[in-house]
Amino acid sequence: MEGDEADCFFCGEEQTNVASDVWEQDGELRDWVVCLACGTSNPRRVGHAAPDGERPA
Ligand SMILES: [Zn+2]
Repeated sequence: MEGDEADCFFCGEEQTNVASDVWEQDGELRDWVVCLACGTSNPRRVGHAAPDGERPA
């Protein structure tokens, strides 16, 4: 990851966070951020899988 998001909120190490692949759950896009220094992982919501009012068939 790059920028502020690459810095771990938990142990304070810089440029140690990496993000998982994004997956869809409950109509939202999610991923994980994991710190390579302390091992702390954090789920994130990164957006909506589909525009409002539009459902896959
Ligand atoms: Zn950390």
